[in-house]
Amino acid sequence: MRTAVVTVGKELLTGRTVNTNLRTIAMKLKSIGIDVNISYVIDDLKKEFKRVLDFMNEDLIIFTGGLGPTVDDITRETVINYFDVETYQDQDTLDNIKAMFDKAEVEMKSSNNKQALFPVESVKLGNDLGTAPGVYFKVGKKRIILLPGPPHELYPVLDEAIEIIKNELDINLISRGFKLVGTGESSMENNLKGFYGVHPKVNVAPYANVGEIKYIFTSSDTDALDRAMVDFYNKYNQFIFGGLEDTLEGVVIDLLRDHGKVLAVAESCTGGMLSSRLINVSGASRVFKEGLITYANEAKMKYLDVKLENLKKFGAVSPEIAKEMCDNLWDKSDADITVSVTGIAGPNGGSEQKPVGLVYFGINFMGKTTIHRKVFNGNREMIRIRSVIFALNMLREILLKNENDETFVK
Ligand code: AMP
Ligand code: MG
Repeated sequence: MRTAVVTVGKELLTGRTVNTNLRTIAMKLKSIGIDVNISYVIDDLKKEFKRVLDFMNEDLIIFTGGLGPTVDDITRETVINYFDVETYQDQDTLDNIKAMFDKAEVEMKSSNNKQALFPVESVKLGNDLGTAPGVYFKVGKKRIILLPGPPHELYPVLDEAIEIIKNELDINLISRGFKLVGTGESSMENNLKGFYGVHPKVNVAPYANVGEIKYIFTSSDTDALDRAMVDFYNKYNQFIFGGLEDTLEGVVIDLLRDHGKVLAVAESCTGGMLSSRLINVSGASRVFKEGLITYANEAKMKYLDVKLENLKKFGAVSPEIAKEMCDNLWDKSDADITVSVTGIAGPNGGSEQKPVGLVYFGINFMGKTTIHRKVFNGNREMIRIRSVIFALNMLREILLKNENDETFVK
């Protein structure tokens, strides 16, 4: 089935918004075995819609963006009217839009009626997170799907659309997967060379992100899928931190909670990113009590009692200072585990002995300290993200390692 995705919005063409919806939609379609053959990014203008609609001859055409209630949101009326199908106004949708205007204490205008437009023969794709539902309809053999633009609204509506496609086309593919940390895509692919041949019925697709890799397994044969996943797990369990829905910080918070341990962190080059990731997890407050951003030497001395003579002797980016930071935080806080991060994120500040990307990590685990040294590639942001992921994985590994240790008490 030939498939096209059209992402709509001026913000995508000016670069103000990164077109993540294309990726989201393409990955979802891939998980049920459908490849996207072509994609367009268009301005919210009637003439641009007409141009692509005149041109496209795909069997499945998905639009995203421009379903909202503002004047520039014209996707729904433009696409539906183009196909000249019989339409109706959906009362529930009108009521929803009116409620949103009431809440904002603004009067609803008649121009908003367009948001409730549906082809008579169509499926309403419910949108609990926004005003305008998605639409699924057929014109002859062509399937047309309209999806909302805001990514958090897109996900659930897209899932509903995918279910409809799966049912209509009798696709019984199942997708599952793992998330990995602490390994790179190229070394994984090298190791996996034999793996693909042993599991011919399973499609295995890696998706690499900075510091993390997702492996998605797809098959219509549940047993083959299970076998491939068990095989993969046995080979790579040291790197696997969870399933597709898991986050590394979520896993760390769960482990801390399971063991009743409290964490505190002292960050330099990551500047609060580690704390922020941990606090992303709902319920983190029970195990994550404090995070200090001690960026300048003065701050390291003032809040962590790091000694000036040591800073002078070893430099702020050194194993000695990483150790002092996490040990002193351990003494000063009530935490069972403390972590410190100190490094050179660049682009300036590197030297031959201490290059950009050099980062030291300290972890004081129940009074016992370990120091790690890493040199990360990438720009400033990537080095900082990689540092955060390394710190989180260091916590995950030490918590797992000590899981059965009876002396695991402060
Ligand atoms: P719209 O539905 O066009 O009014 O878009 C509403 C919001 O969704 C805006 O904040 C857009 O930046 C965002 N958005 C729209 N299309 C995309 C896309 N393709 N990728 C990521 N975000 C998008
Ligand atoms: Mg828009």
